[in-house]
Amino acid sequence: MNTSQVRFAQRKLQAHGVTVDENGLLDEATERAVESQLKRRPELPAAWKEWSTTRKVVAFLQLLATDAGVDVGSIDGLWGPNTDFGYSSLRHLDEHGQLPPNWRDIPQPPVTNPNHWPAEDEPALRAFYGPVGTHLKRVQLPYPHKLSWDKNVVLNSFSCHEMVGESLQRVLTQVFDHYGQERISKLGLDLFGGCFNKRKKRGGSSWSMHAWAIALDYDPERNRLHWNRNEARFARPEYDAWWRFWEAEGWVSLGRARNFDWMHIQAARP
Ligand SMILES: [Zn+2]
Repeated sequence: MNTSQVRFAQRKLQAHGVTVDENGLLDEATERAVESQLKRRPELPAAWKEWSTTRKVVAFLQLLATDAGVDVGSIDGLWGPNTDFGYSSLRHLDEHGQLPPNWRDIPQPPVTNPNHWPAEDEPALRAFYGPVGTHLKRVQLPYPHKLSWDKNVVLNSFSCHEMVGESLQRVLTQVFDHYGQERISKLGLDLFGGCFNKRKKRGGSSWSMHAWAIALDYDPERNRLHWNRNEARFARPEYDAWWRFWEAEGWVSLGRARNFDWMHIQAARP
């Protein structure tokens, strides 16, 4: 557990009327405070008293999630994906007064593909785009971009695959017309995280879509690879139009399609 998770548990203990410092430490006082709550709960296995302090605090968070109506499975004090989901739901509940929407139930946008982008599959990609790193061309941008890792560098063009360039310009022209320069800067729609990069996928062995220069990253700092809908900036409602313009041209947001890598947009169908 990290400090902010422990602090969160301590705040919740205080809210339950238990005296404990919000110091982020898994100390004896915190253990005693958590035990005072756990001993009232029949959901725990008999052996819980022998658990480590960490495990007891995690069990307390699991009970809170269960009480809030989030299914985290059995109360075992172990921090796995269910507990992680339960914890982020509790944070959301604290910040917004309600649980996050069931994103799996959110209807997916219609699957349009007017440019006939190929499937994300190496033979299909090679047949359509050629070998990785070929057919590059410079695309003039409808509004200036800044390098996300060095915001002093302003770009008026960048290189991408020649078959995606015009579509890309159409999308960005619509973005500019819709949002205007001021909101573009505010929302980070000009923070360019890269297009062409002859590399393998992060955490994978196949070519990245960036190796064909058919993928773009935007605002990577606020849309990190492993962040989900609750954390990524691009999942917020003010970006709906941004995504609508890309999707109307058949581009795919991995965030919208798979709920990770929200920075990434590609001209290939996952
Ligand atoms: Zn990417």
